Amino acid sequence: MSSTSTKPVRVRYAPSPTGYLHIGGLRTALYNVFFAKRHGGTFLLRMEDTDQARLVPGAVESLIRTFATLGIVAAEGPYVENDVLSERGAYGPYTQSQRLDVYREHAELLITKGRAYRCFCSPETLDAMRAEAQAAGRPSRYDGRCRTLSKEEQEEKMTAGSHVIRMCVPPIGTISWIDQVRGEISFSAADIDDAVLVKTDGFPTYHLANVVDDHLMEISHVFRAEEWIPSTPKHVLLYQAFGWEPPLFGHLSWLLNADKTKLSKRQGDVAVENYLQRGYLPEALLNFVALLGWNPTADREIFSMDELASLFDISKVNSAGAVVNFEKLDWFNRHYLKALSSEEFARRAAPFLVAADILVPTGTDTWTARETQKTFSLAQLAGVVGLERERISALEELPKALAFAFAPLVHQAAMLCWKGMSAADTVARLEAVRAFLAEQGDVSSATLEAATKEWIAAKGWGNGEVLWPLRVALSGQEKSPGPFEMIAAFGKEESLHRVEAALHVLQK
Ligand code: GLU
Repeated sequence: MSSTSTKPVRVRYAPSPTGYLHIGGLRTALYNVFFAKRHGGTFLLRMEDTDQARLVPGAVESLIRTFATLGIVAAEGPYVENDVLSERGAYGPYTQSQRLDVYREHAELLITKGRAYRCFCSPETLDAMRAEAQAAGRPSRYDGRCRTLSKEEQEEKMTAGSHVIRMCVPPIGTISWIDQVRGEISFSAADIDDAVLVKTDGFPTYHLANVVDDHLMEISHVFRAEEWIPSTPKHVLLYQAFGWEPPLFGHLSWLLNADKTKLSKRQGDVAVENYLQRGYLPEALLNFVALLGWNPTADREIFSMDELASLFDISKVNSAGAVVNFEKLDWFNRHYLKALSSEEFARRAAPFLVAADILVPTGTDTWTARETQKTFSLAQLAGVVGLERERISALEELPKALAFAFAPLVHQAAMLCWKGMSAADTVARLEAVRAFLAEQGDVSSATLEAATKEWIAAKGWGNGEVLWPLRVALSGQEKSPGPFEMIAAFGKEESLHRVEAALHVLQK
């Protein structure tokens, strides 16, 4: 089997929509997208939804929305516009449940060619066959007893009950392909089951639908997860049975936990939607996932999607399992959070403060703090959320970290006093620094800190005596950003107002 293709590049991502996008699914989709871009080909989306038992309502729309958030758009396949799900492209329908006639027709074609047969064995017969094989220490496989039924026997059984259609695997020979990721892979035909192609309910199995669609949709390369390797020899046999040229296959390695076990299946840990909801930026998630098992250069890790597409080489993708280190995702996110302009950071942060009921949107780029009714423009919000930008790994941390900035302060007198200093002395320091600040012109200036410290030294005071109560006065917190950062973010008026409130508590 050849290792290169002369067909125009057409690749697909073909999920069985489960309601969320697994990190591994995103990686598969991305490598297909990169490959298509790199080779001037087409990336399409196909929904493999023939397993009726696993159907999740709304799963297709949800997947497409997640892709859209990530900037992944398929040239063909289902898409959502104005909340309406439609399809585009000349090879549709792209949803397998709408193609049942196509599969039925192709299964019949295989029967005519003698490459598939009807099997009437009952579940009890199959169970007994399995038990017998197990007892004899043989792999449990269908023994092919319905292969040789005569036409009459078949007709008689067809009127009597339901049946499946199975592929007829030749008893000897080797099935092999040059895997684009792993090199040659071979299976002995003797190890391959006469897999079911059409179930008793008339629905196709994955094997039949996948092969028929990849052929009819003129897919040139199939890049999918390692778990499908055992299916591929069956697919290769099906291509042979139909007399079709198979696409080239490449199987992507498992994603692993740090202890090298297979990555958790817990949806919360692996659902891309979950990370987006927690405030991991699309650009960080994409960069992180794209480098699971592949890095185009040895010297850096920050790449745009366009760069990755232009550098993509499927043969360089690592065939060993890729360890997923979520601390690395934090690292990417911190990088991309810092790279945003301060206003863009505020725009991305705002929904998190709104969801936490701290801010209420009151117009384009305007918010009101729910408790204080204070209004924030985009620039003002940028100032405040900027206080935490360097400290957080994900935007979900902002509401807790910044609640104090949007709520009326409740100061505790004891917290305001620096190391054993009396309330009266603390009042004296705070009154003095309030007067000093009130005289300053631009409190956002980078020189305010130096000027204040010079003034403190001239007074013969220690920095802590003044700056601790000032910081607690501004934040109401034991721990918070530094006083000068907060003054710059809040502005002079709000800062003085906070110091006033602290003085009020101390003087009670
Ligand atoms: N429907 C399969 C899945 O859920 C597709 C595998 C393939 O790409 O062939 O992953």
